[in-house]
Amino acid sequence: MGLVVQKYGGTSVADVEKIRNVARKVIRAKEKGNSVVVVVSAMAGETDRLIRLAGSAAEKPVWREYDVLVSTGEQVTVSLLAMILADMGHSAKSYLGSQVKIITDGDHGKARILKVEKNGISRDLKSGKIVIVAGFQGVDGKENITTLGRGGSDTSAVALAAALGADYCEIYTDVDGVYTTDPNVYDRARKMTRVSYDEMLELASAGAKVLHPRSVELAKKYEVPVYVKSSFNDESGTLVTKEDKEMEREAVSGVTYDKNQAKVTVVHVPDMPGVAARLFTPLSDQNIIVDMIIQNSSIDGYTDLTFTVSKKDVGEARKLLEKAAKDVGAQGLLFDENISKVSIIGVGMRSHAGVASKMFSVLAREYINILMISTSEIKISCVIEAKYTELAVRVLHDAFGLDKEIGKI
Ligand code: ASP
Ligand code: MG
Repeated sequence: MGLVVQKYGGTSVADVEKIRNVARKVIRAKEKGNSVVVVVSAMAGETDRLIRLAGSAAEKPVWREYDVLVSTGEQVTVSLLAMILADMGHSAKSYLGSQVKIITDGDHGKARILKVEKNGISRDLKSGKIVIVAGFQGVDGKENITTLGRGGSDTSAVALAAALGADYCEIYTDVDGVYTTDPNVYDRARKMTRVSYDEMLELASAGAKVLHPRSVELAKKYEVPVYVKSSFNDESGTLVTKEDKEMEREAVSGVTYDKNQAKVTVVHVPDMPGVAARLFTPLSDQNIIVDMIIQNSSIDGYTDLTFTVSKKDVGEARKLLEKAAKDVGAQGLLFDENISKVSIIGVGMRSHAGVASKMFSVLAREYINILMISTSEIKISCVIEAKYTELAVRVLHDAFGLDKEIGKI
């Protein structure tokens, strides 16, 4: 008999009628002879509402209490689903993260899962019950409730699948899989049947929002096959899995974009040891993530340093950098929020030459100027002017033939 973990996101449990639809899908998996563990998110919009509520209660809410509050969204959905399943004649039991226990570190608001105590769940599954677990939450070593960060229910589901040795994990959402690019930007975007863990990680970090990046890291570590599917139809979805030879046949498998970045340049910085550390440490101390970093080669002992930060961090970064730039003797700061990052991703890049030059030529043909470039083993990203984002995505998608299914050899 198989063991399946299914996760349903906020839009899939937005009201009682939709939760009934979820219940029917759960029952179908159970009636195929599987043991079923279901992880649910809060009803759509509920976590946002709770976060706003915390903000209206205190300017800087105490993090421990913030987690007690925002974790309640999922408490509502686990109980509703359990009631509905019982009403449909199935024996089901709900668990909060702290009841499972899903043990995390004590980093409130963005805790990491350390361990899943699975004995209670295993016992329930053996007795034929459907187990329903609240996503997004856990408990630390001191019995404090913790949450895993926005979108964290995916990670709860994969962690449970890994701990229970599930055959696979299904993530049900409002899109029916992972696409070669955003279908809202290009109607020739194609649903991928399979994508490797590494590609999925790069897709997620480059702007695709289908899966929480940490859930993909966990899936890769424990080799959990993950299916991304729609909860509103019965299409087969996309399988996120181990890399295989077939995946390497095409150089590029997806194009993504990110409009949430801003470009920062520290102008005329003295080129000497310790300067970069003095500029970036204040940012990292405030948990501001710096993405692409470019340092020009120096002329007469001075250089420019350019990097990107998330748009939401610009205000805070400006404050910190004004001080740091003065301290290191830089001439000034430039901020540009009218940019976007367009990336191409594919494990096939490792074995295909000329992928970068092709990307640059395609952009050049459209007179799109490249402001920054960064590469990893399986990703090339270019920062361009924001107004060209959609055009760049479409011409790259065409140039790398992403609208065509790979033919069988
Ligand atoms: N409810 C949480 C959020 O909105 C967790 C999740 O949905 O994955 O971020
Ligand atoms: Mg989500």
